[in-house]
Amino acid sequence: MSGQLIGTGGDDGGLARCACGALAAGPCARCRVPLCGDCCVITQHGAQPWAICRACERRGGRSLRSAWAGLLLWLGGGLLALAALVLLLAWWARG
Ligand SMILES: [Zn+2]
Ligand SMILES: [Zn+2]
Repeated sequence: MSGQLIGTGGDDGGLARCACGALAAGPCARCRVPLCGDCCVITQHGAQPWAICRACERRGGRSLRSAWAGLLLWLGGGLLALAALVLLLAWWARG
């Protein structure tokens, strides 16, 4: 035994782990959680394949387009709120 320590005590070295406990192969393309090869779903977006988690596949389908839909919905909500504010101000100014 010359200076080599075996099993220094569970040092992962900062490697991410999947929710199932296996060593992660990479992050989900949508929610960035670490995923192993068994838990990821490969999805085709344009010419490039993405790996997403099963929760994201169930939530948004196999496309990343729902992120844009959410942004549009958010913009529409902001416009509605602005319109309501303008109406309220007009009503208030009239007395
Ligand atoms: Zn995900
Ligand atoms: Zn896993």
